[in-house]
Amino acid sequence: MTLALGCIADDYTGASDLANTLTRCGLRTVQTIGVPDDALALPDVDAVVVSLKSRSIEASQAVSRSREADKWLRARGASHVLFKICSTFDSTDAGNIGPVMDALRADSGDAIVLVTPAFPGTGRTVYQGNLFVGSVPLNESPLKDHPLNPMHDSNLVRVLARQSKSRVGLVDLAAVSKDAEAIRARLHELAAQGINAAIIDAVFDPELEMIGQVALDHRLSVGASGMGLGLARGLVASGRVSEASAVANEKPIGGPVACLAGSCSQATLAQIAHAEKSMPVLRLDPEKIVAGPSEVQRALDWSREHLGKGPVLIASSSTPDQVSALQARHGRDVAGHAIEQAMAAISEGLVAAGVRRLVIAGGETSGAVVDRLGIPAFLVGPEIAAGVPVLRCVGWTKGEAVTALKSGNFGGPDFFNDAIRLMP
Ligand code: ADP
Repeated sequence: MTLALGCIADDYTGASDLANTLTRCGLRTVQTIGVPDDALALPDVDAVVVSLKSRSIEASQAVSRSREADKWLRARGASHVLFKICSTFDSTDAGNIGPVMDALRADSGDAIVLVTPAFPGTGRTVYQGNLFVGSVPLNESPLKDHPLNPMHDSNLVRVLARQSKSRVGLVDLAAVSKDAEAIRARLHELAAQGINAAIIDAVFDPELEMIGQVALDHRLSVGASGMGLGLARGLVASGRVSEASAVANEKPIGGPVACLAGSCSQATLAQIAHAEKSMPVLRLDPEKIVAGPSEVQRALDWSREHLGKGPVLIASSSTPDQVSALQARHGRDVAGHAIEQAMAAISEGLVAAGVRRLVIAGGETSGAVVDRLGIPAFLVGPEIAAGVPVLRCVGWTKGEAVTALKSGNFGGPDFFNDAIRLMP
């Protein structure tokens, strides 16, 4: 198998978003959790997204993990690698976008690397090198108050130059909106001036498609899911990936199906209430979860009674008032961590009871479950709701399984049944 595209994502949810975007563009895509073992047997895919947690760690560690991921992808034939960053360019003057980009560019041998976080579908656009979030420049958006990486400068040429050893230039909209040759000519000009990284303007999807086409002349690019969209469309348009390979629902898994909800978002609370009309729902007692393991045991005893008869849902979720009260008694982190670990322990028990179809609501909750179950990778399948695909486990020691990992506010009112219907 030869990968048409390799991707290295600097966080898990960004990786899922990218993997979903590539799949929707017609690329069969696997998302891995961390850099996989060499032994991981991949299905026949066009793209692999390696998910790292490297956005806010020390720069030298982010560099070494990203290089390791790059090596793994190149060894599987990836001639182009996208370093996937956040569409709001989350970083500080210490990195990690610049240092990782510098190292990957040096490894790739490319003279110049194309960089754009533009993703017009979600309101991220770049004009004259300035990143806009919706209608406001980055430094006026809520990102100015981000707890880890407050963004105080919307000019990405300056932002990237401060954190990189590369000289940074701009390919402006005048070139991008003309044609691929104009972009190539501008890149050539910049490279001749000793500039090794180019922020590229993009305001609409067709510009990303043009950028993707040009990026494929190179071995490396840096961007958000919008760049992924451009690269994927470029690969399909050039015939390097046949659309026929696009995602199909694969063979049924069968057996018991369980849903776990740890999200307390409004949408999830409404989805749980809706599910109560069609399946047994166990509402956990959060206070008892924090107190010890008995609540996990109660959940597993309850699920054993019901699993043979149809889908079940186990939820820790409660209303904002109840959440605040629990956090006031135990502290936000202690309460959150205890509940995440309880959900992970319940998922382990469900798997031991034969569950191979698992729907999970909550971003952190999903992360805790996936880590506990040791699932190394997922093949992205059909979309249940915008941004929430069915995921087929790849290379898992427990064999064939499917899951759906939903962050809080995603999905329609009947999300749990919508998911189950697509997980035969
Ligand atoms: P979302 O995607 O909606 O943000 P997450 O799973 O990421 O959902 O986050 C929800 C957090 O709230 C987790 O840390 C989870 O353990 C915690 N949590 C779940 N139920 C409760 C509850 N009843 N009270 C307080 N915290 C809870």
